[in-house]
Amino acid sequence: MLRAIAIALGVGSLANGTRNSHALRTLGRATIVRSKSERKNLQDRISGEEMERIDSHHHFWQYSAENYPWISESMSQLRRDFLGRHLAVETTTSQISSVISVQARQSIEETNWLLAQSVGCDWIRGVVGWLPLAASNVCDEMETLREQPKLCGLRHVVQDELDDGFLARSDFNRGISAMKDYGWTYDILIYGRQLPFAIPFVDRHPDQMFVLDHIAKPTIQPDCFDEFWSIQLKELAKRSNVACKFSGVVTEIRAHGWQLHQIQPYWDTALEAFGTDRLMFGSDWPVCLLKTSYADWVASVSSLTSQLSQAEQENFWSKNAIRAYRLK
Ligand SMILES: [Zn+2]
Repeated sequence: MLRAIAIALGVGSLANGTRNSHALRTLGRATIVRSKSERKNLQDRISGEEMERIDSHHHFWQYSAENYPWISESMSQLRRDFLGRHLAVETTTSQISSVISVQARQSIEETNWLLAQSVGCDWIRGVVGWLPLAASNVCDEMETLREQPKLCGLRHVVQDELDDGFLARSDFNRGISAMKDYGWTYDILIYGRQLPFAIPFVDRHPDQMFVLDHIAKPTIQPDCFDEFWSIQLKELAKRSNVACKFSGVVTEIRAHGWQLHQIQPYWDTALEAFGTDRLMFGSDWPVCLLKTSYADWVASVSSLTSQLSQAEQENFWSKNAIRAYRLK
């Protein structure tokens, strides 16, 4: 399948199995310090596995400053197009077999564009789009997308809402209530400080499936573990209709560069909270490029999961995402 993707997209050298680590380093501007031999060991360990691996969280965009105002001037790595042909290089190299595309700007136009990208692309397994969930006509908008086979979820950028009570708003909750008729999962995108608002929100919708993005973005400082986040995350995880993405973690590190030991306690906490049945892999590419390359992130998470049993690893790398999003 990986070979087929590479060939279809004209990634010649990758289709022939040649790794292009220089290109990846250039693309990724990797800041993690890892020697060539360490990197090779990790890659060999990955390529030795036959396991299906899904990236449950990435973005595509055709960059313009107007459409992506959140990409500031300091994020120069992100100020270009990121499309299927770019991602296919990364997934092929890192032995990721399929992906879920997630919205990055709040517009129906983008949702339709993401769905269009997925047409005829078997390796794009699902799309988490955006609809105006708080709008009075949201059910009409949902109806227009009912027949879209790849649409598996919706997301709203709650982290940027100025009102901390946004998740309690009745209009927004009415939109969430309507989702279960379509079998769509809702992605919760919040910062750690917003976790206390997510708990009663989830409790209002016991029949709705939720996926928490980026382990709810803890504040990762070199010498100070985010205890508040840890307590709140464990409380939220008691709700069995919430799964969690181990993604976007490196970009929460408040330091230049990063090392695996800095994220280990956050991995341990997320794993303890959600267990091996509800935690899943995500890259948050291309946003991850602010701190790491795609290949280094996959290799780092592979290292974290290496202590798990084969069955547990299969859950983390594919089955939990398939379940949470009801992927076909
Ligand atoms: Zn993201």
